[in-house]
Amino acid sequence: MCNQDGGICREETELKFYPRYNENEWPAEWIEEVGNYMHHSYRIISDYTPLSGLPEIIFVQKEYTVETLERVNLPEWVSAFTIEGTIYALFNDKNARWRSVIDHEMFHAGVNMFLGSKDDLPVWFNESIAYFVGNNYAVDAWSLCHYVVEHFNTVSGWIEKDHVLSHEHIGYEIVKSLGEYICKTYGANKIKCLIEEMKKANYFNTALHKVFNIDVPTLVKGWRDNLLQICYT
Ligand SMILES: [Zn+2]
Repeated sequence: MCNQDGGICREETELKFYPRYNENEWPAEWIEEVGNYMHHSYRIISDYTPLSGLPEIIFVQKEYTVETLERVNLPEWVSAFTIEGTIYALFNDKNARWRSVIDHEMFHAGVNMFLGSKDDLPVWFNESIAYFVGNNYAVDAWSLCHYVVEHFNTVSGWIEKDHVLSHEHIGYEIVKSLGEYICKTYGANKIKCLIEEMKKANYFNTALHKVFNIDVPTLVKGWRDNLLQICYT
């Protein structure tokens, strides 16, 4: 569907509500703001991943959030998640970071929609870019640096085996820091090329080598050296 909006033809945002729309939970003006922001986010995120159309977003009523998260086996602090290109929003206008959450999920949805069944992007990589594009990558560089120096082989093994996020707190710090390093070092276009390459090659390592001209251990060492420079200069 395409709507004439001030002369610009744009695709409509698919906003849905589960089990139904409730004005007390999602004020109409805010929902309109969300709809507009989806278009803005689409433009930002399309620098990082191919996007074929706006993803559907489903707002889940507060009383259903616990059972929704249990069903998909996610912790209760999660404010949104994406499955098969559909964004499930468990937040409302009280969440001051809702735009950042949309950008984060827009990236996941874009990757999902583009790669489909070939979505073999490692979780650590997918999350690291999502945190960066959602502008949520601030970490305690000092304590992270000490941790990484002391446990470098372990950390690097977690990344290679894609286990990093099972290590609750430190896992997220590592992923956020990796995202900042990758995005600032290689830029959005390389990440987009890598995802396009994934569709052809299907293997992350092959695609990484082709586009970034490095392997995972070299990338991880580059990240560590960069972190050391930040902490010790
Ligand atoms: Zn995520």
